[in-house]
Amino acid sequence: MAEKKIENVVIIGSGPAGFTAGIYTSRANFDPVLFTGHEIGGQISLTYEVENYPGFPEPISGTELVERFQKQAERFGTRLVYELVTEVDFRRWPFVIVSETGQEYRAKAVIVATGATPRKLQVPGEAEYTGRGVSYCATCDGFFFTGKRVVVVGGGDSAMEEGLFLTRFAKEVFIIHRRDELRASKILQKRAFSNEKIQFIWNTVVEEILGDGTKVTGVRLRNVKTGERQDFPTDGVFIFIGHDPNSDLFRGQLAMDERGYVIVDRYQRASVPGVFAAGEIADHRYRQVSTSVGQGAAAAMEAERFLAEVEDKGYKEAARELLGEPLPSYIIVEPLEE
Ligand code: NAP
Repeated sequence: MAEKKIENVVIIGSGPAGFTAGIYTSRANFDPVLFTGHEIGGQISLTYEVENYPGFPEPISGTELVERFQKQAERFGTRLVYELVTEVDFRRWPFVIVSETGQEYRAKAVIVATGATPRKLQVPGEAEYTGRGVSYCATCDGFFFTGKRVVVVGGGDSAMEEGLFLTRFAKEVFIIHRRDELRASKILQKRAFSNEKIQFIWNTVVEEILGDGTKVTGVRLRNVKTGERQDFPTDGVFIFIGHDPNSDLFRGQLAMDERGYVIVDRYQRASVPGVFAAGEIADHRYRQVSTSVGQGAAAAMEAERFLAEVEDKGYKEAARELLGEPLPSYIIVEPLEE
């Protein structure tokens, strides 16, 4: 039987964490494979400008930063596979990773960096009018609202940043927030408050997105203090109410918290020895390019350390040392050659 190739490291995800893991592991000669998914760069590629990533005193566009990450990872030999991963089996070692074209990969270590996805309001009309007035990306869709009225839902940094960006195009921007106090950082609050195109609608939630069958025409609002409802005309609805981790693929295989974030220790190690997680899949607290990059680097360095241990002692012993106890019986360790 032909010998099946066993990869040292497979990285799942092409955001700042994934590409950084690629840069580190390829530079260390581990010849990693990186699955990009369908949207290279993840959320950062939808960001208009990044102005708090060190080394860039002038703002850099999200897409350009991603291109630079990719170039740097490829320069050291990271092999990019432009596919989604549809299945993993971390109960077998070498781990099994199956891509959307059905191709099976085996790997001694996996770095999970699948990020998070913008949360939905889950109100009537939202799904129907997505792409027809409802958007989760001002950078992508702002231009279509030139001279129009838009609403932004949310009170965090994303809502402020994207709301400010929308003022480049829209005639009026209304930020609808469910409380009377913003969660956003002071600097962004200040900018939003002083922008004359932005107005705030406080203590209010969107109950429904209204449309004429082809496009958005308004939102049904409810004041949570008074209970009063009103239909508010708008051409666009931009929703920035947080994120959910892209962790469905790993359910039942990696330990997660109640929100579905993969649990890691301080060395980015997930619950299965040899699996690491970095970036927003494992971090709902910081969610910065710089923190994701740091976590990607740490995960890569820990993966390198783990591979050296495996080389030295074999998987079972390396895993036992990590877990401090015998390897759970549900993990099947196979011989390296098939
Ligand atoms: P976030 O900080 O979690 O804020 C989400 C906002 O949406 C909150 O104001 C929340 O209201 C509101 N919300 C949540 N669920 C809602 C619902 N069902 N209906 C109505 N409103 C709802 O999310 P984010 O703004 O996307 O930011 C995520 C992280 O990225 C943060 O750590 C942020 O600092 C960071 N970030 C940083 C920058 C930057 O540094 N330039 C830019 C963007 C994001 P409550 O306040 O009432 O909970």
